[in-house]
Amino acid sequence: MTPLLPSPKHYLYNLITMTSPDAKRLWRRAIKEHFNCTCVYCGNNYEIHELTLDHVKPKTNGGEDLTSNLVPACRACNQGKGSSHWLGWMRQTYGRNHAREQLILNHIN
Ligand SMILES: [Zn+2]
Repeated sequence: MTPLLPSPKHYLYNLITMTSPDAKRLWRRAIKEHFNCTCVYCGNNYEIHELTLDHVKPKTNGGEDLTSNLVPACRACNQGKGSSHWLGWMRQTYGRNHAREQLILNHIN
């Protein structure tokens, strides 16, 4: 398992890797592994390469490229959510799911 660190730079600072592209690659993988390759929104399991990373707070709304703002999402959920607020979109699409909502809240707070 790759350790989950706050941003790609931390993989360089901690000498886990020496190059920036490698740091970004490890970071992205660590986020997906942290959630056991599950899409946080629909709860389905995927192969690691099938998952995208979704900005919980969209970049267009000032969301940052930090671990605390990134979650694994399948392509369908990532596209469906778009720039909507994650909680509103998720409830509208899948109904209330306390466990999954809490999982995301714990990650972003
Ligand atoms: Zn999904």
